[in-house]
Amino acid sequence: MIIQLSDTLIRKGDARTYSCEFGFDDISWMREKHRLTDKKPAVLRIENTGNGHYQLHAEIDCNLHLPCDRCLKDVVCPIHITDERELITRPTEAETMEDGLDDAYIQGYELDVDEFIRSELFLHIPMKVLCKEDCKGLCPKCGADLNKGACGCLDGPLDPRMAAIQDIFRESKSEE
Ligand SMILES: [Zn+2]
Ligand SMILES: [Zn+2]
Repeated sequence: MIIQLSDTLIRKGDARTYSCEFGFDDISWMREKHRLTDKKPAVLRIENTGNGHYQLHAEIDCNLHLPCDRCLKDVVCPIHITDERELITRPTEAETMEDGLDDAYIQGYELDVDEFIRSELFLHIPMKVLCKEDCKGLCPKCGADLNKGACGCLDGPLDPRMAAIQDIFRESKSEE
């Protein structure tokens, strides 16, 4: 969806609230596509604040599916975003220099709503994702999901490097 700012918010003080459906179902992050579900129409309130500047208040609600950091299981992360942005449609040269305006979602007087929603989602991707607080993760040897029970690997012979450390420990003990 494209919002034409010049058509609808002509004078300073003009304001309008838009309800915008997502035009996409997933986002690419860390070279993987991640599903978005339960997407509520984004609510964008835009006000013309004069001189080609617009104040944007955004509310975005959806579920983002991300893999558990430990066992890679699909985890549904609820995303609730409330944010304010200033849109500058006619940047003076000084403003362009200052802000490094490279926002892909504003071109001239056109606001690309999908691009804007994407940029907000990227800012709000959770840093830590766990399927449960005490997720046991995957066995480093065979890749089995340790939440479903022990795979047996860790009862087997120790990793040679670990064994070497234990040897050193034993030797220093015997010298005492
Ligand atoms: Zn997990
Ligand atoms: Zn294993």
